[in-house]
Amino acid sequence: MPVLIIGSYNIDLVVRCPRLPAPGETLLGGTFAQHHGGKGANQAVAAARLATAGQVHFVATVGDDEFGRQALTQLRAEGVNTAGVRVAPGQPSGVALINVATGTGENSISVAAGANEHLSPADVDAALADAAAGTVVVLQLETPLPTVIHAARQAAARGLRVILNPAPAQPLPAGLGADLYALTPNETEAETLTGVRVSDAVTATLAADRLHAAGFGRVVLTLGAQGAYWSDGTGAALVAAPAVPAVDTTAAGDCFTGALAVTLAEGHALPEAVAFACRAAALAVTRPGAQASLPTRAELSG
Ligand code: ADP
Repeated sequence: MPVLIIGSYNIDLVVRCPRLPAPGETLLGGTFAQHHGGKGANQAVAAARLATAGQVHFVATVGDDEFGRQALTQLRAEGVNTAGVRVAPGQPSGVALINVATGTGENSISVAAGANEHLSPADVDAALADAAAGTVVVLQLETPLPTVIHAARQAAARGLRVILNPAPAQPLPAGLGADLYALTPNETEAETLTGVRVSDAVTATLAADRLHAAGFGRVVLTLGAQGAYWSDGTGAALVAAPAVPAVDTTAAGDCFTGALAVTLAEGHALPEAVAFACRAAALAVTRPGAQASLPTRAELSG
């Protein structure tokens, strides 16, 4: 079954510099790199590398600029169906300006959402009108919240399963849970949503119970190197992460969410899907970069 990812595209402009510049300072000596990013695009690429060809569709608004054109070319090269990706007339692409201090790995990031602010309910409706029965819809919070809420409502009304990856962390409106199949917060997001500082199975259980009480019937909490905790009100378990030498955890959560969506769309039950997502994300953290680190299905078979 198809996976429909609705979300953001950002171009990541990264300068690695000896240290972070102070306010007002111009710091020389950096090296530059440019990467495709944004949680929506990362999850679309993660899913496309794991799914059967042609099964992953992306809905997004990219800028009316060179970055937007590059995004379309790159997403298509990854096998993502971009029929739902619209160029927002006159708008710049979403940009993340990232400084990384080479010595410490510390970073500072500023984001201009640009075209992502223009993803509208109409964009979502056009994509959902073509969505096949059984499609798994994936949402995050880097596009306007009214569009996210609309997408969840309309997808649920069509009987589609909706996964919300509530990132970046922010409070959610009451009632949203009724439209979701699953909510997938990381530890920071779980704390924002529940007030519980999640660090182990006991605190994950507490956070999950609070989310259930708030109307989120099925939750998957990602716990970094510890793995992931799922709870659906009838069962719950902590799935341990494979022990791996972690090199770069950027996009681990996006890899996890994309992998979860693909395996659920293939018909696997939640515990199996969580276990597969843990294996995929563990491989991603052994490699540098965001999209560059995302594994293919072939790398995970066997
Ligand atoms: P985010 O990237 O959103 O902060 P997490 O840090 O929770 O999310 O990571 C998402 C998933 O990636 C985890 O649930 C786990 O499966 C995997 N993961 C992250 N860090 C590691 C690690 N050091 N070793 C193995 N798996 C990891």
